[in-house]
Amino acid sequence: MVAARKQDEDGLFTANGEGRAVALFRLVLSFMAVAMLAFVLVEGWRTWRDYRHAFANAENMVTNLARATSQHAEDAIRQVDAITAALTERIEGDGFDHLNRPRLHALLAQQRAIMPQLHGLFVFAPDGSWIVTDRAAIPPKANNGDRDYFIYHRTHTDRSVQIGSVVRSRTTGDLIIPISRRLDNPDGSFAGVMLGTIKVDWFVRYYGDFKIDERGALVLAKRDGTILVRRPFVEQVVGRSLANSEVFRNHLPYAAEGLADAVAVVDGTPRLYAYRALTSYPLVVEAGLSRESIIAPWRHDVIKSVTVLLLMLVGLAAFGWVVLRQLRERIAIERALHQAHQTLKSLALTDSLTGLGNRRRLDAVFEAELKRARRQGYPLALVMLDLDYFKLYNDRYGHLAGDQCLRRFAEIMQQALKRPADLAVRYGGEEFTVLLPDTDAAGAELVVEEIMQLLRRHAIPHAGSPLGLVSVSAGIAVGHPTRDACTTESLMASADAALYQAKRQGRDGYTVAAKLTVNAE
Ligand code: GH3
Ligand code: MG
Ligand code: MG
Repeated sequence: MVAARKQDEDGLFTANGEGRAVALFRLVLSFMAVAMLAFVLVEGWRTWRDYRHAFANAENMVTNLARATSQHAEDAIRQVDAITAALTERIEGDGFDHLNRPRLHALLAQQRAIMPQLHGLFVFAPDGSWIVTDRAAIPPKANNGDRDYFIYHRTHTDRSVQIGSVVRSRTTGDLIIPISRRLDNPDGSFAGVMLGTIKVDWFVRYYGDFKIDERGALVLAKRDGTILVRRPFVEQVVGRSLANSEVFRNHLPYAAEGLADAVAVVDGTPRLYAYRALTSYPLVVEAGLSRESIIAPWRHDVIKSVTVLLLMLVGLAAFGWVVLRQLRERIAIERALHQAHQTLKSLALTDSLTGLGNRRRLDAVFEAELKRARRQGYPLALVMLDLDYFKLYNDRYGHLAGDQCLRRFAEIMQQALKRPADLAVRYGGEEFTVLLPDTDAAGAELVVEEIMQLLRRHAIPHAGSPLGLVSVSAGIAVGHPTRDACTTESLMASADAALYQAKRQGRDGYTVAAKLTVNAE
């Protein structure tokens, strides 16, 4: 039955709408989850990569620093080493008895002038007294016999250059690094000491030129771990031993240069160190950057990007929340609509006598069909039919026969309607209405003629009628919602008027309303 079919379609539509809303809800949820996960993964990967870069850069930087400072120390000491070697050779060659002191002094003064790292050049007698220096005057009673390097040379015959620990100069008060050699008499006995001194300040100033933060460290130490120079420079640190440090204990014995992660012995700062043993002298340099200074810029970046990420996530979550809430509302509306449809379905939309739709059924569909016609631009035909002389039929054959006749007519109507969208209802009494979407006047006439022909073929006797058979009159109204202003009321009124016209013209016929009755009331 057309009416039942239509109802089912509506029900299906509502259920689908709800299903779609739920699917969309799930889609939005998954999209948000994936988007958030993607953000977090990308940001996490970037953060990890930046962390690696920060350390890779720091490793390069400390390695370069260690190379530069070791080269610097090597050069500074080699020059002093060379000059003391040359002077030793010369003094021993001349012999102590034939020493030309004024010439030697001039030579020492000249050498000191051209070597900025040089603090002084000294020649000591076997008792430690000064024989000649680069300075103009020798202090009275000056004696270096008590210095470690002096005692070493007096008691050791080896001729190699010695690099001593830092001492304070007795003439200038400066901190100095002594570079010394033993002087021998021709017979090999101890003839004194040749000494060149390097200013600790020379290194301190050089180390100060590097652009590293205050937690960075540069160290020049003897191979046994004794600190000679350090940046940041604190005098108390000079002479302290690094022998127990990570680098000296666990790295230097195995490799002359390398990297080490260590907590500084001197100040307790965790640093990344590059160390390097000098090639020509028993010295070691270390360059360290504090882990804090390596990580700080990275951490700053992380805080910024995490903040941005959190804001984005909050924004996304808020957006998602709004969308989800609207979707939930929509689902609730769809549910309510679905229920309303169900309720509507349960309402008696069917005429119990004929099984056709009833007037409520027409009311429920008419407006929607009119809108659809307007949207899709097709005409909509409304036919009103009324059985002729039906009061007389009842009077003649009885009410039950009248009911039977109404049922037969309903079947005839159903037979005549071919399209699923065509709708026949019992409007009331012996009046029927047919709604024909996408149908013009000619089409509607065909339908009406088909009904009338079928009715004639049924040939239901009606002794009360001048025709002798049951007949019907019809009024047709066609609306073109895109062309003229047409409403359900105007269509009804026009069809009604056309029906009245058909009745007046003698019944068993139909007329088509020429124009829609604009004023329905
Ligand atoms: P006309 O040709 O002008 O239409 O004459 P008519 O007698 O059909 O007109 P009217 O509208 O005056 O009469 C309608 C009658 O239809 C009244 C009533 O006896 C009959 N009728 C209405 N509803 C029913 C019904 O449910 N069953 C039966 N058996 N008769 C009905
Ligand atoms: Mg009537
Ligand atoms: Mg009638």
